[in-house]
Amino acid sequence: MKVLKFGGTSVGSAQRIQHVADLVTKSGRNIVVLSAMSGTTNSLVEITGYLYNKNAEGAKDTIARLQAKYDQHIAQLYKTKEAKKEATDYVHSIFEYLETFTKQLFTQVEEKIIVAQGELISTRMMALYLQEQGVKAVLLPALDFMKIDMRGEPDTDYIREHLQAVLESAPEADLYITQGFICRNAHDEVDNLQRGGSDYSASLIGAAVGAEEIQIWTDIDGMHNNDPRIVEGTQPVRHLHFEEAAELGYFGAKILHPTCIQPAKFANIPVRLLNTMDPSAPGTLINNESEHGTIKAVAAKDNITAIKIKSSRMLLAHGFLRRVFEIFESYQTSIDMICTSEVGVSMSIDDTRHLSEIVHDLKRYGTVSVDLDMCIICVVGDMDWENVGFESRAMDAMRDIPVRMVSFGGSNYNISFLVKGEDKERALRALSKSLF
Ligand code: ASP
Ligand code: MG
Repeated sequence: MKVLKFGGTSVGSAQRIQHVADLVTKSGRNIVVLSAMSGTTNSLVEITGYLYNKNAEGAKDTIARLQAKYDQHIAQLYKTKEAKKEATDYVHSIFEYLETFTKQLFTQVEEKIIVAQGELISTRMMALYLQEQGVKAVLLPALDFMKIDMRGEPDTDYIREHLQAVLESAPEADLYITQGFICRNAHDEVDNLQRGGSDYSASLIGAAVGAEEIQIWTDIDGMHNNDPRIVEGTQPVRHLHFEEAAELGYFGAKILHPTCIQPAKFANIPVRLLNTMDPSAPGTLINNESEHGTIKAVAAKDNITAIKIKSSRMLLAHGFLRRVFEIFESYQTSIDMICTSEVGVSMSIDDTRHLSEIVHDLKRYGTVSVDLDMCIICVVGDMDWENVGFESRAMDAMRDIPVRMVSFGGSNYNISFLVKGEDKERALRALSKSLF
């Protein structure tokens, strides 16, 4: 059994739903995980904004606009009168339900219920469409098995047991459809796995059923070894280790949502990234195998700020780094890169909301300087320290570019450079030329 996840744009119109239906019908008795149709979650979030502000009119307007869109999708999607009616009745009942929230107290509990409707609608529409095509598609309600605990972490035992039960209750199915993103929390209320969380659902479901493979279908052209908008002649990346995918995910490459790597990695289930627009292309396979001595990709992250703190007190002192890090922590600002010397430490951050407070507090411990508009360039591949030659090749490629920080040895899979934002394109091209 495989798990196939399709994102919002892949199910974003009647035509796209038909295309996905065709794909999943051919692929066998699998579990299909869907996001909401693109734009829907944003509209639902907008509605909750109006409801928090007690603006019933704003909420009703947005609900009406969304309903009009769905009426159109339904008119285009189904052939038979019965299917059209069933879909319309269902979707209208949801929008009527949304309207009832204008009359009651509005809290986070109601907010989560509203935001969950997008996936409930997209999956019901898909199941109905497949049934109209004569496919025995069975809906598995994610709210019956997807669960997070008190800390917001997935309750994997619960998920495994309850998913097993819902699967067993529908043995006659040709395939299963379920909602990404939505879940129940420890209080049994409707909740979600955060924006973009459908990939996470797919990964958790794959791990829970011990799937043969987890497929993440999007409509972006597969993953490349560098940014094709900047570098000419980039190559598709056919394979990544989970750790390499994690590095690239954090460094802005549009691949897997970083949270969804862990469950698949631990359950040792391969993840394949595929393109809905080009379904026969091999895509990118992510698993626990590394390819010895291979550099996979270069990625960049913009709008980085570097902060340096220099202090003679750091010399031979202990506890200095802890005090520095505590300042960042107290402003909930995470540090991306870090480089140390015996008398100074440089760090990079991308969230500058509390930059002035952080700098102010750091000045207690040393001399502080800040570089704005920097960019992290991250080279990902088998960078095990015992391999020789790769660090020097990467460094050599940067020979004409001013490098503010270098980080190597944090993991076996990357070396990162911090450069000026204006040098990003030059750096990406230079690395591409020397590494691939
Ligand atoms: N529909 C949700 C969102 O837009 C979840 C997802 O698409 O992954 O964030
Ligand atoms: Mg999405």
